[in-house]
Amino acid sequence: MLIVHKYGGTSVGSLERIASVADRVERAKKEGNDIVVVVSAMSGETNKLTEYAQHFSNTPAKREMDMLLSSGERVTAALLAIALQEKGVDAVAMTGRQAGIVTDNSHTYARIESIDPSHMESEIAEGKVVIVAGFQGINSAGSVTTLGRGGSDLSAVAIAGALKADACEIYSDVDGIYTTDPRIEPKAKKMDFISYDEMLELASLGAKVLQNRSVELAKKLKVKMVAKSSFSDAEGTVIGEEESMEAVLVSGIALDRNQARVTVREVADRPGIAAEIFTKLADEQINVDMIIQNASTDGTTNLGFTVPQSQLNQAQAVIEAFDHDIGGMDLDDSVCKVSVVGVGMKSHAGVAAAAFSALAAENINIEMISTSEIKVSMIVAEKYAELAVRTLHSVYNLDK
Ligand code: ADP
Ligand code: ASP
Ligand code: MG
Repeated sequence: MLIVHKYGGTSVGSLERIASVADRVERAKKEGNDIVVVVSAMSGETNKLTEYAQHFSNTPAKREMDMLLSSGERVTAALLAIALQEKGVDAVAMTGRQAGIVTDNSHTYARIESIDPSHMESEIAEGKVVIVAGFQGINSAGSVTTLGRGGSDLSAVAIAGALKADACEIYSDVDGIYTTDPRIEPKAKKMDFISYDEMLELASLGAKVLQNRSVELAKKLKVKMVAKSSFSDAEGTVIGEEESMEAVLVSGIALDRNQARVTVREVADRPGIAAEIFTKLADEQINVDMIIQNASTDGTTNLGFTVPQSQLNQAQAVIEAFDHDIGGMDLDDSVCKVSVVGVGMKSHAGVAAAAFSALAAENINIEMISTSEIKVSMIVAEKYAELAVRTLHSVYNLDK
């Protein structure tokens, strides 16, 4: 079997942890498998490098940020290769470029366009463990690019797809996918299986245990993902195509703390105004999530929407430029988004109503709502984040 292992920041967070990853890789290799390992930077490293850059500039060039941030993963890849070689396991470390990963030109958030696996394949054929620095590739101009935060998961899935690996095992500090973040709700239950669609929703709605783009790609390439712990030998959770017709009603609760709300007051109620505002926001690459517009009174209306906290200042600047069309604006970065996810919702009424009632019973005010076929998301005050997660977790009996 050919198996891709991916080790996240905590799993390679110290030299001791890298040594124990080397043990695990050695074991998997000795079981007769071909192993490709994708590594993250040691935990905290990417943040530290970002702070270094901010010492010199608030707006560092994205190309140079990619040069800088990609170095963290190279360090881990080389150290793991050295550790394995010392144990007598033949291993070779590669950058993203050496592994054949070509991306588009969007520095700091690049998309993988193609992978030429021939270099990895010839090293595997020689019996070597191939270790690839995650989170990075190269663009057509030959510059290093990175894939967005959490992007080593994406590297691992893309490599597994290109090599037609039997599985892509993602190792972190939790032993699988739980019904909600076990750090927030200790009663959360581990799942043996979760469908790509549900996992994609959970990841997109804030469960950072897997990067959402990696799940999307795994579904597309039919890569079997397994979430496992690098600290134990527990079974883990398989992420794959839903086969059972009896889908569970609600599979999990996600929390996204990185939300901010903008309320634009007394917006001139005329055709085209929403188009103008949201086109401007999109032109600035601002990720608008939920939008609500109130019924108009006296020819004006209130318009509310959410953006990632890191883009609140940018959003404010965009809205200020509409000053003659609006009465004013309120900003609130102390909100969060809690979401209920489950494919069974498609065929069942009342899931959203149960969420609203449960939060009401705890006196938690819901500030915004959005729904899709398989999720209900609610914006609430940040101070209620954990209570809201636990309340929703119990109302759907996920702890049973
Ligand atoms: P890595 O650094 O290895 O990439 P992450 O920190 O990105 O690992 O992801 C693991 C963390 O994800 C866990 O420590 C856990 O707190 C969090 N998490 C959030 N939601 C879930 C969930 N539904 N199931 C499991 N872990 C979750
Ligand atoms: N080191 C990068 C990050 O922290 C990529 C990753 O760990 O997946 O986002
Ligand atoms: Mg991660």
